[in-house]
Amino acid sequence: MATNKTAVIALGGNAITVPGIEDTITNQFANTRRSLDGIVALARDGFNLVVTHGNGPQVGNALLRNELALGKAPDLPLGVLVADTEGGMGYMIEQSLQNRLRREKIKRPVTTIITQMLVRADDPAIKNPTKYIGQFYSEQEAREFAETRGWQVKKDANRGWRRVVASPVPYKAVPAEIIRNLVENGTIVIAGGGGGIPVYIDEKGNFEGVDAVIDKDLASAVIAREIGASILCILTSVDKVALRYGEPDQQDLDTCKLSQIKKYFDEGHFPPGSMGPKIKAAVMFLENGGDLVTITSFNNAREAVSGKAGTRIMPD
Ligand code: ADP
Ligand code: MG
Repeated sequence: MATNKTAVIALGGNAITVPGIEDTITNQFANTRRSLDGIVALARDGFNLVVTHGNGPQVGNALLRNELALGKAPDLPLGVLVADTEGGMGYMIEQSLQNRLRREKIKRPVTTIITQMLVRADDPAIKNPTKYIGQFYSEQEAREFAETRGWQVKKDANRGWRRVVASPVPYKAVPAEIIRNLVENGTIVIAGGGGGIPVYIDEKGNFEGVDAVIDKDLASAVIAREIGASILCILTSVDKVALRYGEPDQQDLDTCKLSQIKKYFDEGHFPPGSMGPKIKAAVMFLENGGDLVTITSFNNAREAVSGKAGTRIMPD
């Protein structure tokens, strides 16, 4: 199958840090290599490719390191930590992919782009942060950090106190044109890692960082839309999207039209912290001209695109 179509492949958190496997860099590299089969298969089929990825566990560790070093090394803001993890994880994915492509004699350059994502300064999410990040603290520690470092803190169920940050909706990737040009010339671009670094444009027209995080599924949909991709492949830890997920009468979805998936979303089948953002990303992409969204597990990437596996969501 030869094609000039562009696909954006979003790698879920499990691609690099797998629950139950010790989170060392050696293991992160091994997990990364294992998650590349689908990307390599689509590269061989001639797809132009962008790879995006999550960074939840990694940015959590970066926050911990930053805290342990307080008073000894300069305090780093969240935006810089997101950029750091984009760089580090981009390096791991980039190198693993380069070695694999070389072995399989597929001649495609690979590069990583640290991606600033534009959000609106008046996004209501910024005034009402809801996304828990980093470590758990006692109430007293949490209140101290709120005082000394300007954090917003909240109790996370019964597990302790945590920092909360906003998760604003991105509307544009700052390097969209650069990504598009590279991808159309055959380069595989790793971009939008961890959802990218949220920035807004201030009164003077400058970019300014926000202490927030962007959902990687939404970031992937925005990038896909802006580079004119026709396919958004979301790779995660389940083979298919389901109705009544986890219930005895769970029903897996093979194909679904846009209007139908919106109906299921409204009925509450897709929770906010996991499947919800993927379905929102699918809707955003298809409503803006995308042809196909696939949601499936890592090893089914290619089969889902060709209609043999996964959940496929299409315009009406
Ligand atoms: P990722 O790191 O890939 O973004 P998430 O954990 O955020 O992964 O989301 C994937 C998870 O969503 C699955 O592992 C599954 O447990 C959960 N999930 C929740 N609702 C559904 C649903 N309706 N259908 C399938 N999976 C669902
Ligand atoms: Mg997720």
